[in-house]
Amino acid sequence: MSITTKKCPYCSVTLMITDTECFSCHKKVGAINEHGIAEKPINWKANILAVISCSAFLYYVVWLFFLKADK
Ligand SMILES: [Zn+2]
Repeated sequence: MSITTKKCPYCSVTLMITDTECFSCHKKVGAINEHGIAEKPINWKANILAVISCSAFLYYVVWLFFLKADK
């Protein structure tokens, strides 16, 4: 028996196993997990952006408290 459908993690409609986007809520869906539900795909762009803004903030804090005082 092969699995040909998966469920949307957002609205629970049944999707084809090959679908990458939900036809009902138009959200991106990933591969099927062990519960028969599609994984929510990782938003790499948002993750990378968050990491960059965090490092920028940390660098600013370091600069503010350590480097700026060096006169
Ligand atoms: Zn959906």
